[in-house]
Amino acid sequence: MRIAFASTPVGPLGSGVGGGVELTLEILANGLKKLGHSIEIFAPSGSVLAGFAVNQIDGTLQTPTQDADRGEPISIAKGSVLENIWDKIWREQDKFDVVLNFAYDALPMRLTGLFRARVVHLVSMASLTDAMDGVIVETSIRYKAAIAMHSRAQAESFSGLSPDVRIVGSGVALDNYQFNGSVDGALGFVGRVSAEKGVEDAVAIAERTGLPLKIWGLLQDNDHLQRAKSRYPRASVSHEGFVTSAQLGRVLGQCRALLVTSKWVEAFGNVVIEALACGVPVIAYRRGGPAEIVVDGQTGFTVEPDNLTQMAEAVRRIGRIKRADCRAHVTSNYSSESFARKVENWLLEALAAI
Ligand code: UDP
Repeated sequence: MRIAFASTPVGPLGSGVGGGVELTLEILANGLKKLGHSIEIFAPSGSVLAGFAVNQIDGTLQTPTQDADRGEPISIAKGSVLENIWDKIWREQDKFDVVLNFAYDALPMRLTGLFRARVVHLVSMASLTDAMDGVIVETSIRYKAAIAMHSRAQAESFSGLSPDVRIVGSGVALDNYQFNGSVDGALGFVGRVSAEKGVEDAVAIAERTGLPLKIWGLLQDNDHLQRAKSRYPRASVSHEGFVTSAQLGRVLGQCRALLVTSKWVEAFGNVVIEALACGVPVIAYRRGGPAEIVVDGQTGFTVEPDNLTQMAEAVRRIGRIKRADCRAHVTSNYSSESFARKVENWLLEALAAI
């Protein structure tokens, strides 16, 4: 297949603003290329992706939808990079069999049936606004196999979605994540530092357990972190900054456990499979994708959402988890190769469904 990738319009590839989408796109670009497909990427100016010449598209970045209220309308700024990406792909569409959209936005969904190339969407987040729910649900019903999601929990967050929506999971480049068998390290938190990621609960657990907490991730909301620190003054917390995925793969293994305290329905939670790949057990709230990945009692623990007592208690039992089992779970279920194959199958079905 000749595949165009329409990247997220919230930030350039490599900036971290796109969160898990950035690594998902990278894994799929490499994985589908290895399977013999040709890939061309269209992304906001400033994007960097090793091994690919990215079409650099100028324009105003979109505001990430995770900051929107449920009733908020969908908006496009003047000179938006989203429009410019799709305008360029429209003009070059005869070069492609499939256009794979990574944007959580209405415009690409509304264009689904209007291109000569097949347009499909890998939806990166769960239900957030009524307006986007409407567009996603409607597209799933009107166009067979046009939509894929990462987890069942993500799909279930949309009511009325076509049962035909594909669940493709996610994947990790195993070679980039170093296994570490040591069980004595700090607690870890990986993710954008923002309200929906619930870093304050991880800080609370650091205080309750007396274990240090290391945070890796883009500081999107510094006030949020500062408030958490003043609320739990006895917690030992260090923000290690936003690091490249290569760096993360080298240091993450030092952690005793990864805490996943998300307040929203995490569509998947790439950080979960990245930590497990390093042998780090994961303790997650039973909410969204992470609870589908963690095998309770085998690769970590799942606890009642927002229950700090249960989470602190799970930290105390973490020594029972065999770190080799964590790595093995990812090798068997979430390799980048198996993810690319699932997406390849979905794209072939989408092409056949025209
Ligand atoms: N990440 C990173 N460097 C950091 C912190 C996070 O590269 O310092 C990556 C992390 O490895 C993961 C992504 O950011 O691939 C976050 O994805 P996830 O699905 O967990 O959450 P999202 O941000 O998409 O909600």
